[in-house]
Amino acid sequence: MSKSAIDFASTPVPSIYGINSFNDSVMRERLPKGIYRELKRVQQGETELTLEVAEVVAAAMRDWAIERGATHFTHWFQPLTGLTAEKHDSFISPTADGRVIMEFSGKELIKGEPDASSFPSGGLRSTFEARGYTAWDVNTPAFLKEDQTGVTLYIPTAFVSYTGEALDKKVPLLRSMEALNKQALRVLRALGNTSSKRVIPTLGPEQEYFLVEKALFDKRLDLMLTGRTLFGAMPPKGQEMEDHYFGYIKERIADFMRELNYELWKLGISAKTQHNEVAPNQFELATIFTASSVACDWNQLVMETMKRVASRHGLAALLHEKPFAGVNGSGKHNNWSIGTDDGINLLDPGDSPHQNAQFLLFCMAVLKAVDTYAALLRMSCANSGNDHRLGANEAPPAIVSVFLGDSLTEILEKLASGKPVEARNGGNLEIGVTTLPRLPKDLTDRNRTSPFAFTGNKFEFRMVPSSESVAGPNVVLNTAVAEVLSQFAERLESATDPTREVEKIVKETYQAHKRIVFNGNNYAPEWIKEAEKRGLPNIPNTVEALTEIVKPYCIDLFVKHKVFTKQELESRYTIYLERYIKQINIEARTMINMVNKQIYPAVLSFIKDTADTISQLKNISASYPLGVHEAFLKTLVEEAAALKEKTHELESLVEEGGEHDSDILSHARFMRNKVFAAMGEVRKHADKLETMVSKDRWPFPSYADLLFRL
Ligand code: ADP
Ligand code: MG
Repeated sequence: MSKSAIDFASTPVPSIYGINSFNDSVMRERLPKGIYRELKRVQQGETELTLEVAEVVAAAMRDWAIERGATHFTHWFQPLTGLTAEKHDSFISPTADGRVIMEFSGKELIKGEPDASSFPSGGLRSTFEARGYTAWDVNTPAFLKEDQTGVTLYIPTAFVSYTGEALDKKVPLLRSMEALNKQALRVLRALGNTSSKRVIPTLGPEQEYFLVEKALFDKRLDLMLTGRTLFGAMPPKGQEMEDHYFGYIKERIADFMRELNYELWKLGISAKTQHNEVAPNQFELATIFTASSVACDWNQLVMETMKRVASRHGLAALLHEKPFAGVNGSGKHNNWSIGTDDGINLLDPGDSPHQNAQFLLFCMAVLKAVDTYAALLRMSCANSGNDHRLGANEAPPAIVSVFLGDSLTEILEKLASGKPVEARNGGNLEIGVTTLPRLPKDLTDRNRTSPFAFTGNKFEFRMVPSSESVAGPNVVLNTAVAEVLSQFAERLESATDPTREVEKIVKETYQAHKRIVFNGNNYAPEWIKEAEKRGLPNIPNTVEALTEIVKPYCIDLFVKHKVFTKQELESRYTIYLERYIKQINIEARTMINMVNKQIYPAVLSFIKDTADTISQLKNISASYPLGVHEAFLKTLVEEAAALKEKTHELESLVEEGGEHDSDILSHARFMRNKVFAAMGEVRKHADKLETMVSKDRWPFPSYADLLFRL
């Protein structure tokens, strides 16, 4: 395929970095000082955006965009499909004398009205009042996208109904960030911090993905329609040699990555590290962390850009959680921490007694939040793709646990049980007075099996699905931690000696929630038993996980912190179950189609030829050793019969599913327990047949083609 023409020698990275982003430096340069300062205050949440300010910003944005070749603008939003949506309008405005001028008003910047009645709303809108509107999110920079259609100005927005209900992934995320800000500030104030003005959850997602040859992708209906292979016998070689992980990056892939980086850097997205992952043809891209909502937007752009750039290179990027059975799937490592506007990382142990105390307190807030809301965290990562990973035979398990590392765990254990801990400079550790011993980044700190690991100055939540917006998991994380911080704040605000109170909170919280701490191997079967003993939830699949959304404790949490209303939660519950039902239905129908139109005919014709050959040989000589061929033919015929039978069963289940008129939960359970289970049976026989039928007859590319070709 074409080698990308990007040459970073003649086009140094700093010269292109962020050129397509209406970022802070562009705004400072192009906006009048007063307007710029006002906008900054809006971004900090200190004041509301006025139309006057918006007018000036819109004009500057328009000029900047037009200079760079833009003809259109779009409000860009994230409906509950998990994807992004956009509707393009041109800047042109005809004049009376037949010319046009390029216009973009403050109103057009701050509010859009996409006719978006077809997006899922879960009953929040009836069709006659279907319109929602999009509102500019001032914190993610507007950006330009260049593609075959030209250059377009993208305005990141939130999508709400006319009555103010959230219709997207962004609104709750912003609300959860606000909740965390509010409660964390209370705690900081109680600890004597008077300088930090805002607390911001930070996020640095690591995106895993596969690349396959586009020409091969196009030959597989399953990849095209469902994003994963529904069939495929294991190739002679899988990932057992571990020779792909961190291996050298092949030239064609390197070329793709170069162009991907180029596109992302132009958008001001800090693609930082890239490497080969565990499975063959699996890769990872990490961006540098930033505020959660911005990181979430940028991750959407990373995923989109991956797909776009891949197709320019004759490749297809697979973002599905489990494109291939038998090799590792893909996830997103959600590196998460809490920072202040004046640069303090609240999960950094630091060097001073004060920082240590602060760290221990916030760390315990996370611990308690994860233990209390483990089922919600699990829910936030549930989708039909992740069902193949979580709790299946690969990482991470469906059980949420926290890795703290041996050193930190030991310190907390001793503290909680009143045993002395040696302070860094000798003597006994006294929280807030003396310094914590150093926490060495020992090898176990690299425990890759933990679903929620402390990694030195942040937590890494590793259950997050690769194909989805990172909004959901972060909404839960931010809100759960906000709730615990509100409890801590209450205690600290009324304490006469806050330092002593911190010490008490740390000890009590650790003691009460240490059952969630697990530093061992999360893949070991013994852990499942141990976790059960500890009373940790082990939720097996998406459907059961989604039932958490409408449980009273969940509604209480989100309503209290103004992240979701009860109606919003109920609508999401419906939308996500509906989506699951549709996904399984599409997978099942694709499977049936592939069996009936591709696999079964190919197998029959192979059977015919095999049978013909055997009978011809019989005619030539009765003494030919045909027993083994006959046995082979018999197995073929049996497998073909079983395949057809199992496919029939699946067909009738799909039909039954279509007529399901009971409640949505039992419909979803039917899809999971009957339809999805029946799909496994069909696959078993098809995969067996693939190992028996000649390669040139098999109607689509094999796993070896898809995984090892590039
Ligand atoms: P590792 O190799 O252990 O996964 P890295 O240092 O490579 O760790 O970081 C992985 C990701 O974590 C990167 O995206 C990085 O930006 C992010 N990260 C680092 N610090 C923070 C933080 N304070 N908050 C959120 N994410 C962070
Ligand atoms: Mg990582």
